[in-house]
Amino acid sequence: MPESPQSPDTGIDLSALRLLIDGQWIESAGDQIPVVNPSDGTQVTTVPDATADEVDRAVRAARTALEGWRHTNPFERAKILHRLAGLVREHQDRLAMLVTIEMGKPLAEARGEAAKLADALDYYAEEAVRVQGRTVPNDKDGFVSIVRYEPIGVVGAISPWNYPLELIGWKLAAALAAGCTIVLKPSEVTPSSAVALFELLAEAGVPDGVANLVLGGGGAGRALTSHPGLDKVAFTGSTATGIAIGQSLTSPIATSMELGGSCPMIVTANADIDKAVAGALRRGFRNAGQICIAINRIYVHESVHEAFTRALADGVRALRVGPGIEDPDVGPVVDEQIRQRVADHVRDAVERGATVVAGGEPIERPGTYVSPTLVDNVDPASLLATVETFGPVVGITGYDRTEDAIAMANGTGAGLAAYLYTTDLAETFEIGHRLDFGNVAVNNPDAGIMNAPYGGRKDSGHGHEHGPEGLHGYLTIKHLRIGFSS
Ligand code: NAD
Repeated sequence: MPESPQSPDTGIDLSALRLLIDGQWIESAGDQIPVVNPSDGTQVTTVPDATADEVDRAVRAARTALEGWRHTNPFERAKILHRLAGLVREHQDRLAMLVTIEMGKPLAEARGEAAKLADALDYYAEEAVRVQGRTVPNDKDGFVSIVRYEPIGVVGAISPWNYPLELIGWKLAAALAAGCTIVLKPSEVTPSSAVALFELLAEAGVPDGVANLVLGGGGAGRALTSHPGLDKVAFTGSTATGIAIGQSLTSPIATSMELGGSCPMIVTANADIDKAVAGALRRGFRNAGQICIAINRIYVHESVHEAFTRALADGVRALRVGPGIEDPDVGPVVDEQIRQRVADHVRDAVERGATVVAGGEPIERPGTYVSPTLVDNVDPASLLATVETFGPVVGITGYDRTEDAIAMANGTGAGLAAYLYTTDLAETFEIGHRLDFGNVAVNNPDAGIMNAPYGGRKDSGHGHEHGPEGLHGYLTIKHLRIGFSS
């Protein structure tokens, strides 16, 4: 594989990515896995697949550091997280560059992701000092019951490649704010931005062993999630891996599972069509459709089907595709597997009677590019409408009865996010309440904000990130019942 001709200023040594264990950067003895730039197919670096022994050392370091960190005053923990947020802002450009060269997203989006990581650190710094228990009346005089929230302990965290900084940040920030220690394994597809982030921890004042970084693929991931020294596993990734992790646990510890989704959008007869088109363009094609909350399937009322489809097809055709560093609308997809899956899902839809109304043509250039594609009259049983594609393709299906739109939207295992466009108040509440998803966005395409809980249901997992609920995922409850009568 050719070496990358680009040598962007990333500020880290890409020739040898190392692990951070107990405050020391160490070389791994594991096999090296190539890391490829999807914009041109060149090799950016290699990432070591950490050995079980290295993972074990990281978990032990986190266990040793737990005692000091859990009793560190929360105002002190907050200060450290705020300092880390400041450092992330200072290093925003090179963090973003690392994201772009490893997974392909437009540089402006990668800069935005680094900014949101900093915001998450600030948010959880503030939440760290708002962990409040309560006192509870007792059935006998002379007793007081105190409900306390305490750090859950040592966290093993695993993250995917599509938002390599943000998805680390939500776990790191909430866990550290709660007083937990952590061992994090980022995706083997995007290790370098994680290394660059963890290089900032010491300057921010995070004590040795509180946050440890191991690198590698599924093998290192399994070694971490099956380690008996963990108190919680926090996972974001595919549903299949989430299920495998559940089966790998060696004791009944807490888990949070932010898994895959196949997200529906309903456009009713009363929708503002311009707004709906803008929403579908943003949430269907941003990050080349590689978002867990990407719109995959649109159910549109037949009275507006044609007008909506025509306008959306125009918008899709206008999207500029190119290498992330040139800041196009849509970068490459991360690998050949996704490019192939998009092709398979489109072919399956067409075989079942659908029509490609925008895109669909191959892009002949080095790298893994997919032309943003819109498919109309999709059979609800098609792969496009039932399985997460995770690429820049969206399918449209018309409906006449609201009942049918809701049934189709709820009719897969996905339960992460759904979108509804209507200007009718009754429809807003009726459909909004009946959509069986953890996040429902009405007349906007952004289901997740930092201070509200974000999580899935059904095959999309359980647990929450963001909001106070995100912090509480790293806390455990103690009932302290004190007798005080003599
Ligand atoms: P993936 O499941 O292939 O990998 C995710 C992580 O798990 C990687 O770090 C990988 O090395 C690790 N891993 C793989 N096998 C493992 C095992 N057996 N044990 C432990 N760890 C293992 O997912 P991906 O391709 O990196 O990410 C895309 C998926 O993530 C999509 O399905 C997407 O919807 C989902 N996702 C969900 C959310 C959410 O918030 N719900 C957010 C982003 C992505």
